[in-house]
Amino acid sequence: MTESLLERRARLMGPNVPTFYRQPLHLVRGEGVWLWDAAGKRYLDCYNNVPHVGHCHPHVVQAICAQAGVLNTHTRYLHETALDLIDRLGATMHHGTTQAILTCTGSEANDIALRMAQAATGKTGIIATDNTYHGNTALVSQLSTRKPPIGGYAKNVKLVPAPDSLRPVGGSIEGQAAAFAANVARAVAELEADGFGLSCMLICPLFANEGLPDLAPGFLDPTVQVIRKAGGLMIADEVQPGFGRSGSHFWGHDRLGFAPDVVTMGKPMGNGHPVAAVFATPAVMATFREAFGYFNTFGGNPVSAAAAMAVLDVIENEGLQDNARTTGAYMLERLRALRHPWIAQVRGAGQFYGVEFLTDDGAPATAFVADVIEAMVARGVILNNIGKHRNTLKMRPPMPFNREHADIVADTLAVVLATTPVRA
Ligand code: PMP
Repeated sequence: MTESLLERRARLMGPNVPTFYRQPLHLVRGEGVWLWDAAGKRYLDCYNNVPHVGHCHPHVVQAICAQAGVLNTHTRYLHETALDLIDRLGATMHHGTTQAILTCTGSEANDIALRMAQAATGKTGIIATDNTYHGNTALVSQLSTRKPPIGGYAKNVKLVPAPDSLRPVGGSIEGQAAAFAANVARAVAELEADGFGLSCMLICPLFANEGLPDLAPGFLDPTVQVIRKAGGLMIADEVQPGFGRSGSHFWGHDRLGFAPDVVTMGKPMGNGHPVAAVFATPAVMATFREAFGYFNTFGGNPVSAAAAMAVLDVIENEGLQDNARTTGAYMLERLRALRHPWIAQVRGAGQFYGVEFLTDDGAPATAFVADVIEAMVARGVILNNIGKHRNTLKMRPPMPFNREHADIVADTLAVVLATTPVRA
């Protein structure tokens, strides 16, 4: 069954379409934190942040079905729900980002955010980190470095070394914030010298794709000063940290402690329904609206808006942010109690966990981590890796993940670590 689906994919989708795992999963059903494959095997989902309030949550399903049965159009007609959604989300932000454009993907949201910064500053230079992913549009994909772009790297994009809690930028944890900011200052100077000027810096406040480094609140302060002094905007990509995942805060930028001019969000927002958004201050929004005649056919449609409203209901009604805080602390305790000579660091932020492995020589244990992931999946726990060298286990479960689930993951991981042969 799986074999023939793989063949059909190759025939119908072309080569090199990504799948997870050596034996790709054919999933047919989900509920809460659980997934089932076509053979009826059950998996604990310790990876997916899109089904934020749990796979197929009945409140969200019902909201989508109810609205789909009444009306679905677009934002060139008047409708309350998109406005209610912007009002409600805007109220969770504390730095004046009260106006929004609703989109269908995080990529679109980031694409707009970059263009907002260019419209607001009249400049085109962009700074991001050197091990990130912010999406797949022509503009945003210039910030990802996995494959060299055709025609070469864009000259108005500068990628600075990402923060790291094992190999800190500048060589020391205490000096990392200043060293990171110094690299940003150098990038600003280069953009100015090259005639682009600075429009913005775009970052994920958890630096999640970078490897989820442990960073103290205030880490970004010196960097924000550099950006502000150069007249640039700060854009927070909340696609991963947002909607309470970090437990301590609803938004990652509040956890790290900086005030963005533009906030983008996506993945968890509709629990799997494609809905995303870019929030901005009214001043920034006005410059964008004047510079671009932007319309998004599906963005903000009544069904998507209803899905996103329902997600917010469940986060509130089921106390999911608080659960992320308490379960997050418990899971970290369990992960930190694991023993293996190659565990170099255990990190976490609410319901987002990273376990980094280095070999005896201090090299990234990439192959070992790949084997651990396969063994975990074979035992019914879905997870994956992050970081430049893919040597950090990445666990980022749906938000209803609780202590009982944390025990399953930690107990399974203990067995897998004890039985997986070490290889670099
Ligand atoms: N920003 C970040 C930080 C992401 O991780 C991703 C997707 N992994 C995106 C943006 C793009 O979102 P989408 O796939 O919805 O376009």
